[in-house]
Amino acid sequence: MSLANGRSYLAIPGPSVIPEAVLQAIHRSSPNIYEGELVDMMPPLLADLRAVAHTDQNVALYIANGHGAWEAALANMAGPGDTVLVAATGQFAHGWAAMAETLGIKAEIIEFGTQSPIDPMRISDALRADTARQIKAVLVTHVDTSTSIKNDIKAARDAIDAADHPALLAVDCIASLGCDRFEMDVWGVDVMVAASQKGLMVPPGLAFVYFNEKAAEQQHALKRVSSYWNWQPRVNAEVFYQYFCGTAPTLNLYGLRTALDMIKAEGIDAIWTRHKVLAQSIWAAVECWGSGAGQMRMNVQNPQHRSHAVTSLHLGAPDGKNLRRWVEHEAGLTLGIGLGMSTPEDPNGDGFFRFGHMGHVNAQMIMGLLGTVEAGLCALDIPHGSGAVEAAARVMASAS
Ligand SMILES: *Cc1c(COP(=O)(O)O)cnc(C)c1O
Repeated sequence: MSLANGRSYLAIPGPSVIPEAVLQAIHRSSPNIYEGELVDMMPPLLADLRAVAHTDQNVALYIANGHGAWEAALANMAGPGDTVLVAATGQFAHGWAAMAETLGIKAEIIEFGTQSPIDPMRISDALRADTARQIKAVLVTHVDTSTSIKNDIKAARDAIDAADHPALLAVDCIASLGCDRFEMDVWGVDVMVAASQKGLMVPPGLAFVYFNEKAAEQQHALKRVSSYWNWQPRVNAEVFYQYFCGTAPTLNLYGLRTALDMIKAEGIDAIWTRHKVLAQSIWAAVECWGSGAGQMRMNVQNPQHRSHAVTSLHLGAPDGKNLRRWVEHEAGLTLGIGLGMSTPEDPNGDGFFRFGHMGHVNAQMIMGLLGTVEAGLCALDIPHGSGAVEAAARVMASAS
């Protein structure tokens, strides 16, 4: 007998749970795109987007997903024949690098594997070796959603400065923005990419490229920039259509407006703390499950290097896959699949899975997730240590 009927819960690392208020804001008749409310909405919307990233710099908007944000950023930072240095801590860094190659930009990859964060020394070394100054940008993923590794972005900045290299620091915050602490200006980030469907709690379809004056100046040196991806007209829009180089994503903008109101009301610092406590509750539970005969393990050993938005896990194959199936079909909870942790032929690949806990999630949702996983472990006779839900409860209780 399935117990899945009722409100389902998509606990994958994006798209994330959308607040009712955001859904209701989107549910409306099409607004005028030439004058009135929608047009007037833009300046404060941009100001609030800047606040989420702790920056006073520019933010360009695109109708796109995260991949679109990647391409937009690359198109404004480098041209064919240029090089970008990619510090890879998971599949998403490799995705951004592959996209650079398709644009004729050489991607020099420093591989850090799937369980360790970046080592800034290796970034400095690679930049020092670039005496011809062909590297235009260093690409770093703040949180790699496949491995759930969180990188120290300030350390990446210091590594570039230590090498006295002019390359821009470009950061992928698609998974982390609105979940993990991020301070664009204080940390010295030149370019940052984000998308609407993760920590920002809006359906997929809006992408954001933040950039500072240094990045704007470097763009002027490019021979040509695609008119669609060019960030300049989008941040200097004199007419409304220029914000999106065409028709605006009208209804998504209403959703974003409401999401930003919610973020403002809670406060970005409080949001970072909420995600931290919820993540720590999950870690406490997983440690219990993995004790004794239990096989469940977190991918990232050092808590300092763990994301607060997503947790990558391993449970021997095929238990990981069976657990995902059970919680989805029997209990209405969908967990994330493992991504980039094994090759397709690897028989252990089915052991990897992920909890998404980004955006509009609270304590009772996380307790529901943990309790449901516990039920799945029991139902499938998967060996696990006891006390997981109580351990999570104690973390939440001591934070309140
Ligand atoms: C989700 C994600 C992407 C890709 O975003 P899409 O919207 O799926 O194109 C890129 N980078 C990171 C870190 C992500 O979490």
